[in-house]
Amino acid sequence: MARLMIRDFVVLKSWLDVAGQAELIEALRPVLKSAPPFHPVTPKGQTMSVRMTSAGRLGWLSDAQGYRYVPDHPKGMAWPAIPAPILRLWAEVTGLERQPDSCLINYYGEGARMGLHQDKDEADFSWPVVSVSLGDDGLFRMGGPTRGGKTESIWLSSGDVVVMGGPARLAYHGVDRIRFKSSRLLPRGGRLNLTLRVVE
Ligand code: FE
Repeated sequence: MARLMIRDFVVLKSWLDVAGQAELIEALRPVLKSAPPFHPVTPKGQTMSVRMTSAGRLGWLSDAQGYRYVPDHPKGMAWPAIPAPILRLWAEVTGLERQPDSCLINYYGEGARMGLHQDKDEADFSWPVVSVSLGDDGLFRMGGPTRGGKTESIWLSSGDVVVMGGPARLAYHGVDRIRFKSSRLLPRGGRLNLTLRVVE
């Protein structure tokens, strides 16, 4: 494990070993089954290249009505609970007793990306955001609190964890591309990213 500090982002390289990564994939299997990932549409009508679903009391949603947190999957059922090993990881990384309300699950298939954005649909920015990378490598771009400022990029690999807290909490970030099939964690390739957030 190596702890890097890049533009206020804390990057915990290799936080999870292979067994820890496999444990999370196992725990996510029933979540993905009961809340199937879907391609969200931006308020402007663009279909996002990532597939998304959530676990927890609230899940993040984007559609014609905007960005927001909702208690149900678009198909109508409540989001499944956040699996215990994921809650444990949050507690270990943040040292917080407060559990996250939401675990956003993003799947990056071949060619998927995520434009630079801020995470700002939550009520209280004093809580950190924790992001967990599983599967293929992703090129993660980190900026500052304003769009168009200087950025720095790092390849995130399976098992890496990023903590966005303090000045990084509202920093712009995105994923430019993935290296499809660079990892063998997911048999069909691709990158899973978990984003843990306190919403309310
Ligand atoms: Fe984000």
